[in-house]
Amino acid sequence: MTDWHPDTQAIHGDAGARRTVDSVAPPIYYSSTFRAGSADEFASMAGDTRHPGFYTRYGNPTHEHVAEVVAGLEGTETAMVTASGMGAISTAVLALLKAGDHCIAQTRHYMATAKLFGEMLPRFNVEVTIVEQTDLAAIEAAIKPNTRLIYVETPANPTMVLTDLAGVAALAKQHSKSTDDDKRIITLADNTFAGPFNTRPAALGIDVVLHSATKSLGGHSDITAGVICTTKALADHFVWETSLTLGSTLSPMDAWLLLRGIRTLPLRMERINSNALALAAWLETQPEVAKVHYPMLPSHAQHELALKQMSGGGPVVAVEINGGYEQTSKFVAALKLASQAVSLGGVETLAVHTAAMWGGSMNDAQMVEAGIAPNFVRCSVGLENIEDLKKDFGQALKAK
Ligand SMILES: *Cc1c(COP(=O)(O)O)cnc(C)c1O
Repeated sequence: MTDWHPDTQAIHGDAGARRTVDSVAPPIYYSSTFRAGSADEFASMAGDTRHPGFYTRYGNPTHEHVAEVVAGLEGTETAMVTASGMGAISTAVLALLKAGDHCIAQTRHYMATAKLFGEMLPRFNVEVTIVEQTDLAAIEAAIKPNTRLIYVETPANPTMVLTDLAGVAALAKQHSKSTDDDKRIITLADNTFAGPFNTRPAALGIDVVLHSATKSLGGHSDITAGVICTTKALADHFVWETSLTLGSTLSPMDAWLLLRGIRTLPLRMERINSNALALAAWLETQPEVAKVHYPMLPSHAQHELALKQMSGGGPVVAVEINGGYEQTSKFVAALKLASQAVSLGGVETLAVHTAAMWGGSMNDAQMVEAGIAPNFVRCSVGLENIEDLKKDFGQALKAK
């Protein structure tokens, strides 16, 4: 094509090099749009639900790669990726609700999720009842004739209280007057804290499983991403249209990094589960520690439920220090391996003084209600050597 002007050559000069090869590592389809071979093909691409090669907001082959892997891990028919966990949560929730509907959410949620239910949905005339998640009878009592969604998050951020997933799924089925997707009660679970290695909500009857893939799925603290795992019917007829309308589109590069991260999820989670449980059990024996919240500890108030629906406790260990705000701040600041940073599920250990983190956005009463005492520390345990972690936490406890 050497007869082309350089202006054209710069844009079309690679036409002879276009071909598909079967690479072992998946390619990154770094393209916002995709060619059709004919007018007919173009029309069928445009009309095809979730076509992976039409326009990236509608779908992208790299999205499809990672979504298929996560759907397999969660045991759902299909999955869709979004640009963040909140993108997944807001897209799924808005896809399934209309004005006049009622939904049920928990007292303890990830903060932005709490805002979605507490502030945003009421603006669109969706009725929300907030219930104590540990009380299945309270969830049942909240169900009304117009209940459309039950939204759960387990273990909940940051207190590590659990919701009975099988119990909630059974309630939704029992109180649905129809089996039609547009009439029945749909259950959604944020599975970010446990992850598919430890809990598979779909196997317990939950309809939609949500992830902040920014956390354990990605696992390297380098991307933000979200995943919605559900049935083909719910994805095709509800979630996809909302997704392309709201536009929480994951970058193909980040989809690829997510897939790369997920390759080692089982190995990372094995180490994280054992490190977190060992650190939690050790912290419980320290005189400077008042209480440790971790589902796999026999001292957890819902340990039996944990054993029923979790095969491991996941990365988050919540610790109450003996002392007040100042001493807790000193403890966190004295940690050398554990960084003071939000997020969780990465290869590195993190610790946050939750009262300091949320002090800016909550008043004292709200913090008490959210279960965040001034001596509360949320740790995300990483892959470091466990003896080094104990050494680090031990010296920081002595320094407080
Ligand atoms: C981080 C997190 C979210 C939000 O995810 P982003 O990727 O930050 O948008 C939602 N739920 C839980 C439980 C989380 O930890």
